[in-house]
Amino acid sequence: MDYKLAIFDIDGTITEIKPEIKEKNPKAHTPNTLGEQQPKENVIALLEELQANEVGIALATNRGGVAWGYNTLEEAYEMAEEAAVLCGVEGSAVYVCPYHAKAKGFFKADPRYAMDSDCRKPNPGMLIKAMEDAGVGPEETIFVGDMETDMRAAENAGVLFYWAKDYFGWE
Ligand SMILES: [Mg+2]
Repeated sequence: MDYKLAIFDIDGTITEIKPEIKEKNPKAHTPNTLGEQQPKENVIALLEELQANEVGIALATNRGGVAWGYNTLEEAYEMAEEAAVLCGVEGSAVYVCPYHAKAKGFFKADPRYAMDSDCRKPNPGMLIKAMEDAGVGPEETIFVGDMETDMRAAENAGVLFYWAKDYFGWE
């Protein structure tokens, strides 16, 4: 491995919504509560290999639902931690961004988070924090995600980006 830190998006990258939940709500992409997600194909094996090679692992997820008032920040962290446990990387650094500017004025919005933030991807805040916490520079870091916002966050943080489908070999 020629990198020391691998940061992963969560939803659609390392985990997916369980089929039985998806059946009831085909548009579901992010879990609403614990127990709704499962690891995606090849993820457990690849993350195990990274750990065996002493590559640091961090998870970084946008959780605008907190700003919209659909989840508390504590619940968002619990779901991110659940993803880490399911994927065999319990204890890895987990970064959750609860902000969303568009939630401002929404009747359920949490005013503490209904604003723009440099942590919300495509902004690079979470990736920069992950690198600082790991003591690793951008040239030694990769970010893996499934959305264009992930790609742009990697660009903005100056780290190499991989599409999840390529990194985990889904196609
Ligand atoms: Mg995603």
